[in-house]
This record gives sequence, C-alpha cells and structure tokens, in this order.
Amino acid sequence: AKRVAVIGSGVAGLAAAIRLKCAGHEVTVFEANDYPGGKLSEVRLGPYRFDAGPSLFTLPELVDELFDLAGEPKGKYFSYEKVDPTCRYFYPDGTKVSAFAAHDRFAEEMEKQTGEPAHNVLKAIKKSAYLYSRLSALFMFSSLQDWRTFFSKQALKAYLSIHQLGFFRTMDAANRKRFRSEKAVQLFDRYATYNGSSPFKTPATMNIIPHLEMSIGAYFPTGGMHTITLALYGLAKRLGVSFHFQTSVERILHKKGKVTGIQLKDTSIPFDRVVSNMDIVNSYRKLLPDLKAPNFLLNQPKSSSALIFYWGIKGSFEQLDLHNIFFSQSYEEEFDHIFEKGTIYTDPTIYINITAKKNPADAPKDCENWFTMINVPNNTGQDWENLIQSARASIIQKLSESLNCDLEALIEVEEVLDPIKIESKTSSALGALYGNSSNNLFAAFLRHANVSQRVKGLYFCGGSVHPGGGIPMSLSSAKLVAKYFQ
Ligand code: FAD
Repeated sequence: AKRVAVIGSGVAGLAAAIRLKCAGHEVTVFEANDYPGGKLSEVRLGPYRFDAGPSLFTLPELVDELFDLAGEPKGKYFSYEKVDPTCRYFYPDGTKVSAFAAHDRFAEEMEKQTGEPAHNVLKAIKKSAYLYSRLSALFMFSSLQDWRTFFSKQALKAYLSIHQLGFFRTMDAANRKRFRSEKAVQLFDRYATYNGSSPFKTPATMNIIPHLEMSIGAYFPTGGMHTITLALYGLAKRLGVSFHFQTSVERILHKKGKVTGIQLKDTSIPFDRVVSNMDIVNSYRKLLPDLKAPNFLLNQPKSSSALIFYWGIKGSFEQLDLHNIFFSQSYEEEFDHIFEKGTIYTDPTIYINITAKKNPADAPKDCENWFTMINVPNNTGQDWENLIQSARASIIQKLSESLNCDLEALIEVEEVLDPIKIESKTSSALGALYGNSSNNLFAAFLRHANVSQRVKGLYFCGGSVHPGGGIPMSLSSAKLVAKYFQ
C-alpha cells in the first residue's frame, strides 16, 4: 500500500480518493475550503437552498460505479430520478418548446412550435448517438498518452469514418446544414456551452453532447446536485479516507524526479504519491514553481465562465420547470461578446435552474429558489462590478417581460457568483468553468495528461485535465488516475 495525498475534494478528488482507497492505499485528502465538493457545493440563504454550480446530472452510472466498487448496495446512500421534460425553452418571439425525454414526442413538439420537420430532429439525435458510439470510448474514457488507445478497435473504426465525425466544420455550420428553422439551430448550438465553448468555433464533433442529455438522459439526484458530493464524501469516510479541511497545500515536494510529499503552511508531510485535483494551471504555477511547466498546454484558451444570481423568489411560476432557457435574440452576437470581445452581450441567454420544482424543501411555501446564470467570458481583468450591474438589469428586464411580472420586487434574498469568486473558491484559472475551451479541433489533445511525465508518483484529476470538464469527465479522470496506479 502507498501513502497517497489527494489535493482538493472536488468531485474528481473524491472519486480518486475512493478508488485508491478501494485499491488498498492509505489516502489523505487536503481541502482548502471548510467544505468538500469544490464547484459541486451548495449555497444557503435564509430559508433557501441552492446548488452552487453544476445543475445538470448526466451519466449517473459513473457515480454508481463508485458505490459498486466499495461493495455498497445501490441506492442506499444515493439515488436519482430521470428528468422529463429535460428543459423548457423560451424564445424572444414568445415561442416555447418543452424538450420531452421521448424522442418522438420532442420531435413532434419541435415541429409544432418551431416548424422544424420532426424527421430532421430525429436525424440530429441519431447523429449524436453515432458520434457517441464512435468517439466516447476514445476521448472520454481512455488515455490519449497511451499509444494503445490509437491502435484499438475503437480508434480503427473512428479512422475509417473520419469524414462522418464532424472534425472539419463547426457545430453551427453542421446544425445550419441540418435544420431549416433558426430556432432548432439555436437549440442544438447551445450544447457547445456544456463544455464552455462557442458553437461558431467548436468542431461539429461536439454534436456528441446532446446524446448524453437526450438519449442517455438527464437526471436529478434526490435532494439536489449537492448530494453527489455528500454521498461521495460519506462513502470516502466510511472507507477510511482521512480529510483535512481548511488546509491549503502550498507545494508538491519532489526530489530527483520523484514525489516525496506535500508542503502545508507550517509543515511538510511525506507521501509516496500525490494526486492533484487543483486546476492544472495553478497546480504548476503555485504548487510546482520549481518544475519546468508545459506552457503550451497551460496557455491554451480557457472555457467561458459564468455569472450567477442566487435569488430567493417570493412567488411561484407554473410555466417554469427544473431547467429553463431564455434564448438571446442573436447567438452569434452573444458568443462574439464572450469569446472575442471579452465582455457580456446586452441580451444574454438566461438559464434558470429551480431545484424547488423537484425538492420543495429548497424554498419556503409558494416561493422558488432561482439559480439564474448567464455565460460570460473568463476573467482577464474586466470591470466586473459594472458588467454585473448592467447584466443584472438586462436579465431582470428580460425575465420580467417574458414572465409578465415585476421580478425585482419578488427577489427576497440574493447572492452573486462571478468569475473572480469562482477562481478564489475553487482555484479554477481565470474562473473558467471547464478548464480549456474546446474551440479548436485539437483541444482534446491539448489537455494535460492524468499522470506526470516529469515527476514519478504525481497524478492529476479534475475538470482542467484529460478528458475535460463537467462531472462525468471529471469522474472519468479519477478512473484514469486509478488505472495508472495499477
Ligand atoms: P473542483 O470542483 O474544481 O474543486 C477543486 C477543489 O480543490 C476545490 O474544493 C478547491 O478548494 C480544492 N483545492 C484547489 N487547490 C487546493 C490546494 N492547493 N490545497 C487544497 N485544496 C485545494 N458540470 C456538469 O456536469 N453539469 C453542469 O450542469 C455543470 N454546470 C456548471 C455550472 C457552474 C457555475 C460551474 C462552476 C461548473 C459547472 N459544471 C457542470 C462543471 C463542473 O462543476 C466541474 O467540471 C467539476 O465539478 C469539476 O470538479 P473538479 O474535480 O475538477 O474540482
């Protein structure tokens, strides 16, 4: 058994700790905050509870796997339900679409509300499934540093169908070719934001993403997203993983190309192996300043960030569901503002997540907990105070009009999360939600590996390294780390 330090208790840090403990190692987790979960945590404002960051749960079996591995009965400590409809969409001209989980029903709804022929919608869903079948094993669940990945059966199949895989045009171009209705293009283009990219830049390969939500399914954990963290933290503790909160790791110690331990504020502790769940840019810049950094990888453009208003709302809205999107007039303008101009568009797409629709305890009676989010550029020193003020005003105006209410008067409590706070709370470089963006064809190959080539015994997991951001990918990174241990 090795003595292993895990730096950070984000979802990937927790999963890595569980896997390594199950493999027989002695595991200690160091967490800078006084709570586990990183981005996957919660916010409480008076009688309201909010999930702090992620709100969409896909590929739940990756969480189940951890309980299976530990030999704990399925569903005892963690359960979830399928979400249907997965989302309600509101367009600026008043059109509304409910994204039903059943494909036929969703396609019919699209035809009825937007005029997009149902068969085009069904074809798009099928294409997404095809991309998933060709690419997921390679890009989501394998190491790209292992040459065997490129000679596997999966890889061979992908080479043979390379022209079908969307590498050579953008997501928007592919969707524009497929759909007649601008509304269908916008709905399918939005999936680029699931990894913080722009549909006008990311390759059409990213049309793989709808498959996760539309076919494998969108889920809601009983009690909210934060229960994923609570469940994994509980499991790790039952297994005997040790945790130290409010304990920031300051250095990863190494000698002659081998990990020797970690440095805390006043003391150093020897370890045989170290797994860093800290953002990869900050892992190098802060914890490994004495090591030559792979700057080309670290300097890749980062994904978008988010501006979130946690609002306790005195009122309830029947037309809203768990996931709600209010589209912008112009997606092109919106993404141009995020990725080119580095600012916020005056008419941003607004996402509202209301967990009280599923978990009434999250808000008082006849009230709702609104997690109101827009995509914004990552932090490059903008005047956030001003940007937040004007974004807040335009969000309130747009929602008041669409929902026919005086929203400002209904906001009972408020807290704001912006790119600067995202970085200070979780160490994400520039406050990016998903590490590097996927705005170019080679992004998948330009993420840092899960194992260090320079220091033996050093590993990396989480949304900023291979295979990428989001809960499923972060969980997959932890699995790859555990594989490297074998
Ligand atoms: P993080 O959550 O980044 O946590 C890292 C942890 O390490 C933190 O707790 C931090 O305090 C700790 N740490 C860092 N440095 C040190 C140090 N030196 N010493 C000690 N501790 C340290 N994903 C989805 O799948 N679905 C969604 O709907 C979704 N929506 C999102 C919305 C928002 C607003 C945000 C912010 C993210 C969203 N994501 C979503 C992405 C998802 O949250 C992340 O990809 C995932 O949670 C990242 O987990 P992680 O393991 O990389 O760790």
